[in-house]
Amino acid sequence: MDINKKDCSILLVEDSRTQALKFQYILKKHGYHVIHVQNGLEAMNAMLNNDISIVITDWIMPEMDGSELCRAIRKHDFGKYVYIFLLTARDSKNDIVEGLESGADDYLTKPVDDNELIARLSSAERIVRLESSLKKRNHEIAMLSITDPLTQLYNRLYLNEHLPKALKRAVRYHHPLSIIMCDIDHFKTVNDQHGHQAGDKVLKAFAGQISLSLRTDLDWVARFGGEEFIIVLPETDLSGATIVAERLRLMIADMMVPTGSVNIKITASFGVAAWHHESPESTVTDEDIINAADRCMYKSKERGRNQTTGTII
Ligand code: GH3
Ligand code: MG
Ligand code: MG
Ligand code: MG
Repeated sequence: MDINKKDCSILLVEDSRTQALKFQYILKKHGYHVIHVQNGLEAMNAMLNNDISIVITDWIMPEMDGSELCRAIRKHDFGKYVYIFLLTARDSKNDIVEGLESGADDYLTKPVDDNELIARLSSAERIVRLESSLKKRNHEIAMLSITDPLTQLYNRLYLNEHLPKALKRAVRYHHPLSIIMCDIDHFKTVNDQHGHQAGDKVLKAFAGQISLSLRTDLDWVARFGGEEFIIVLPETDLSGATIVAERLRLMIADMMVPTGSVNIKITASFGVAAWHHESPESTVTDEDIINAADRCMYKSKERGRNQTTGTII
């Protein structure tokens, strides 16, 4: 989140009313929104309920002092960096060292010079902004690494990491788990007849249709290969997963993909593999369940395509 003087509040933690009024006056004059509390406990409470990136805290206060507050802030995950200024008396070198060791980023000595305060705040804002943009960028990179660029679905990397986890949970808690493998029928012909770009459009439409029709909170889908996709359905047995596969199959067969001059129609073949806690295979791996779904999908192909075949493993 970008730090803007108007939407970011500064938390002032100061038990002296006179000092607090003085700070509030300067900060407000420079356009900052200030929330004032009188001790560390109140400060933690305010931080949990407000969007605060900068804290200016006094050192000696009742209830929870400045050093305890610094440690408490560093312990808690606010989802972003909180920049802390410590307020000290001019001659308290030991307090400064202890404060920095407790997690403060900088200190201000009382009485605070207005210009110095504003300049230091600007530099704190720069750091907070930098941290926030780095965090955003890291998140984007992490998302890119698990996303298929064409369809925007999860990629194989995500599947390789998350299917074993889902399976482990199912086995541990004796809950069912199913996967559906689907493969577009005669997709090579789509490319051959209409071109690779039209093929890409069909893949995107296919992927969009699948992700739109899943339970968003539980089920997920990944692109397994070229025109093959795997849908993971936790808490779902064979009959439930077969219903999902059949519903998708009919929707896909009904779908028209407009590409330039023609509307392309496709079908897909589905293979369902389900693990139940009474399944004979209690040491099932992600590879086992994928292979089982793959075999079923090929049976659907053999039987004439545009079909669903399922098995319990
Ligand atoms: P089947 O019904 O047996 O599945 O036949 P098929 O033609 O779909 O199967 P095959 O595996 O022979 O062909 C898959 C084709 O998918 C071949 C490949 O060129 C195409 N393909 C794979 N990835 C992409 C992609 O990202 N974009 C496009 N346009 N085509 C792709
Ligand atoms: Mg005090
Ligand atoms: Mg195919
Ligand atoms: Mg294929």
